[in-house]
Amino acid sequence: MQTIAAIATPPAEGGIAVIRISGENAHSIASKVFAPINNRNITEMSGYTACYGTIHDGEKRLDDGVLLIYRAPHSYTGEDTAEISCHGGIYIARRVLEAVYVAGAVPAQAGEFTKRALLNGKMSLTQAEAVADLISAQNEQFLLCSGAQREGSLYRRIKSCADELLSIITLIQAWIDYPDEMEDEFNGDLAPSKLKSVLSALDGLLASYGEGQILREGLPCAIVGRPNVGKSTLMNLLTGTERSIVTDIEGTTRDIVEETVMLGGIMLRLADCAGIRDTSDVVEGMGVERMLKKLGEAALVFAVFDVSRPLSYDDEKLISKLDGKRVICIVNKSDLEEKADISRLEEKFENIVKLSAKDDDSKLIIADAVKKVSDIGSLDLSTGFIANERQRKCAAEARDFVNEAYTALISGVTLDAVGIMCENALDRLYELSGEQVSETVVDQVFRRFCVGK
Ligand code: GDP
Repeated sequence: MQTIAAIATPPAEGGIAVIRISGENAHSIASKVFAPINNRNITEMSGYTACYGTIHDGEKRLDDGVLLIYRAPHSYTGEDTAEISCHGGIYIARRVLEAVYVAGAVPAQAGEFTKRALLNGKMSLTQAEAVADLISAQNEQFLLCSGAQREGSLYRRIKSCADELLSIITLIQAWIDYPDEMEDEFNGDLAPSKLKSVLSALDGLLASYGEGQILREGLPCAIVGRPNVGKSTLMNLLTGTERSIVTDIEGTTRDIVEETVMLGGIMLRLADCAGIRDTSDVVEGMGVERMLKKLGEAALVFAVFDVSRPLSYDDEKLISKLDGKRVICIVNKSDLEEKADISRLEEKFENIVKLSAKDDDSKLIIADAVKKVSDIGSLDLSTGFIANERQRKCAAEARDFVNEAYTALISGVTLDAVGIMCENALDRLYELSGEQVSETVVDQVFRRFCVGK
């Protein structure tokens, strides 16, 4: 396999830039461009040691920096690796990389270092996928969960299902071969109950997909209310920007403005929707339709009402659409005289806050309310979660095969057929963990990565 090299740090000016070289010739290539100040022989340096020296491009000195040596298999990729840290300029890093290429390395593809780690057994496919998630994490909770995933939490969860399935397949095989001795096992509940427990483990795993998405992208929230109640003002208060247009002309928010915010330690994906009302304006009407769709998708709804005006037909229409939803009722414009029938709202909603969206302190009131109604703060995915569509598809197919096997077993279908269904499920689990996966799938996974990782 060729020795690869890439700049591992972002293409921007910074304190240092790191050029990573990995493969059989990593150390000899490093010795062609890096001269240790104490004349140490790089190819004889032990793993996990560093030296200071100068970086050369043939005869010309390019920079000074630090060389770090890793020896196979004790490196990220599992191969001999060298990392040269030079000054963090875009041009200088590129020049050092070019010198490394001239010395014999080839450019690394996106994610190729991690792909080699996978191929060298340093991590499973799900751990490699977690590396990409870790890099893209934008909040503490998701960072912690991706960290656990990187340590193999999902892999362990899949492996325990796979091991259980394997034991069922062995049991079935034993029954087929020695039916007399195994009679008790199959007349009893052992195999069905084992299959049932794999089924519920896979159901739990599949449920973690939605929770993982919430952690990664934020809890989908919709801000709804009739025109002019202060939805855009509220959105601007929560996001701290002027994303939504605030006017007192009714129907100004015709389309949906979306923004992600952290509120009380919880990431929310907020959508400021068009005001709900009967309208003959075609464009505004389309906005209302999209608002209803957003409302359907929202896991949390901020229903906004204007305390300075009596509740109207449109307010009542909105209330009727909120049945069964998790709602925080925002009674806005508390700085104005109260004309709305608050008791009607109290009768309908459990969580009510009275505030003025124009007052910056109201953000804290809303953060408190969100913490109270949302269980996202306590979501714990550190035991592993389904992180992407590839994983979800494999898990769902495995689940369907297990379900099929369970139904077949309890309805007396021949054990040979049940065994095949279990094997199919096992195959899907091995694809999920990456133990049995095609090169095309691996390539697809690493396409998400950046060069240098
Ligand atoms: P939307 O149509 O629901 O998005 O409403 P806007 O956010 O555009 O607000 C409509 C009008 O109400 C604007 O003139 C805002 O300045 C005003 N408004 C919003 N919140 C408050 C508030 O808490 N108190 C007062 N007095 N006016 C507000």
